[in-house]
Order: sequence, then C-alpha cells, then structure tokens
Amino acid sequence: MSNFNLDNLVRDNIRSLAPYASARSEYSGQDVIYLDANENSLCSLYNRYPDPLQQQLKTAIAAIKNVRKECIYLGNGSDEPIDLLIRSFCNPGRDNILVFPPTYGMYEVSAQINDVAVKKVNLTADFQLDLPAIMQAIDAQTKLIFICSPNNPTGNLIDAGSIQQLLEQFSGLVVLDEAYIDFNASYSFLQQLDTYPNLVILQTFSKAWGMAGLRLGMAFASPQIISVLNKVKAPYNINAAVQQLAAQMITGNTTVAETTQQLIAARTALSAALQALPSVKKVYPSDANFLLVQVDDANALHAYLKSKGIIVRNRSGMVLCDNCLRITIGTAGENRSLITALNAYTYA
Ligand SMILES: *Cc1c(COP(=O)(O)O)cnc(C)c1O
Repeated sequence: MSNFNLDNLVRDNIRSLAPYASARSEYSGQDVIYLDANENSLCSLYNRYPDPLQQQLKTAIAAIKNVRKECIYLGNGSDEPIDLLIRSFCNPGRDNILVFPPTYGMYEVSAQINDVAVKKVNLTADFQLDLPAIMQAIDAQTKLIFICSPNNPTGNLIDAGSIQQLLEQFSGLVVLDEAYIDFNASYSFLQQLDTYPNLVILQTFSKAWGMAGLRLGMAFASPQIISVLNKVKAPYNINAAVQQLAAQMITGNTTVAETTQQLIAARTALSAALQALPSVKKVYPSDANFLLVQVDDANALHAYLKSKGIIVRNRSGMVLCDNCLRITIGTAGENRSLITALNAYTYA
C-alpha cells in the first residue's frame, strides 16, 4: 500500500499560502448592491467579475459525471490543471515527475517551465506501462506520475490493472489524463475517486464535447486536493461567458452521444480505407477520435498532404512512432478528401 499523505506532498510554500481573497468570493447571495469590486455598474452584460468557483457550472457537471461538486476543479483547458499540479506539488530544481513516452507533450513542457525534472519510462512495444521499470524509476523526489488513457498519440487505453497497481504502490499523485475517455467511457476511473486518495483525473470539453475554442478543462480528485488547486489558481480563471455557455450546452445537450457514435463509425471506416493503401504499413487500433498510422515515409507523406491543404500531425520523431502520422477523424467530407488525396499519392 502507498503511504500517501497529502499534507506532506504539497510544497511548503503552498501549504502555508494565504490565497488571494477575491471580492466576489466573500459574498454569494442574490439581489444585493455590489459596490465591492470596482466594476462599472452602468454597463450590464459582462460587467461583473465571474464566480471564482463556478458553482452553477459545477452543479451541471456534477450531475452528468456523477461526482460531488467538491471533487471538481475547472481550468482554462486541462493544460491549466497540469501546470497547477506541477506548481503545487513539485519543488523547482529538486522534485521530478514521471511520464511514459510516447505521450502528450504538455506534461514535460509544464515541468520544464517550472524547472521540475522529467523522468521517462517508455511504454512497451504494445503501448502499455512497463511496471517493473516504472517502480525502479520512482524515487523519493517523484511527486507526480502522468498516465494518459486513451493515450495520445497512440490512441489505446492503458491497462486498468496496471493503473490500479500504480495507484496502490505510489505515494505521490497519479494524474490520469482521460481527455479521450468519452469515446469509451466505460473505462473511466472517475467513479473510483473515493477508493484512491492519490488519484487525479483530467477530462476536457475540447474533444468529444467539441468546445476546444472555449477552453474548459476539468480535474477530478478528493476535496482536499481540489482545495489545493483552488488556492493556487488565478481567481477568475474561467470567464463569465464560458461559464454560461458551457452550462447551457451541458443542460441542453442532445448531440454529444450522437456525434461520438458518428466519429467512432467514421474511425472504423477511415481505418479500413487507410489500411488498403499501399503507402500505409499499419493503422493502430484506437479508442479515441484519431488514428496513429505508420507509413513508408512520414515526412514525405506529411509534406504531400500539406501541399494538398490537408494538415495531419507528424509524430515520427517520437519514440516507438517511427514514420507515424496522427490523423484526426474529421467530417465525412474531410475524411473523403483525405482518402482521395492519399489515393493520388505516388512517390516522386
Ligand atoms: C487535447 C488534450 C488535452 C488538452 O485539452 P485542453 O482541455 O484543450 O487543454 C489534454 N490531454 C491530452 C492527452 C490531450 O490530447
């Protein structure tokens, strides 16, 4: 069992921090005269500072996710809580985080910005966790482990038993990035927050929910971990327009389940079409809204598609991703254009 102790894990300066008390967090009643925040009362649409803790939006999210409101943190994209977690738990120049390449790049970038070391243990050849190597890599200064499932850019789910084992044996925080979990929601760890006090789950409105432009990400964890994040965050990190819009879209939502199914069907079709092409060596199975595709010459194919006005992500520089492109599932028309362009592709 891990001897997880949140109070020991958090940085000293954060534990003792008296957070900024915003004017709007002091009073939450209605029908009062607000003369406390130097807003312009003569204008009326977005003249007020937003709710720093986004209570209404969290109520809507709590209902669809079946988690308590106190277990929810909302950020400007999930990239914000990634940075906040590193800043709250890792001492610059001393602590480290553990990541499993090939994976999402922001964990490493955020750590580097904060002068926090990054330890890496590559995934196995079948893109799963290498548990023995991971246990060996963990040291006393390892504060956070980042697991991405389904993983970006490989598209596969990480074995749940391995995740459980790390949750049980690691005494720091296990951050499980479920940005793509809506495409296979039955594998989410969200209902296990009460079992694992060291679990932090990241989800986002940018992928299945189709709101990447709004910038709204979620972190789910124990109320104790969430209060650390609330202490460190910028007071008004989610603007009023986004709070309103997102709450409306959640309450009135009728399309997410439907478009998710459409994307999954399109993924199956695109995978088959790609596999039939001579320049494609392998299409990896995917539980997300993208495909990792190994081709003869990723650089050449990437440049060719670009010349046709089609932009895909070249991942061939990443470990275990030799000559791989990551292709997002688009609209039916976009997917058709991609296949048409690929059919016309010949080596110069
Ligand atoms: C897209 C993505 C995110 C970032 O989501 P935002 O909420 O838009 O910041 C996080 N993690 C992974 C693995 C992603 O692919």
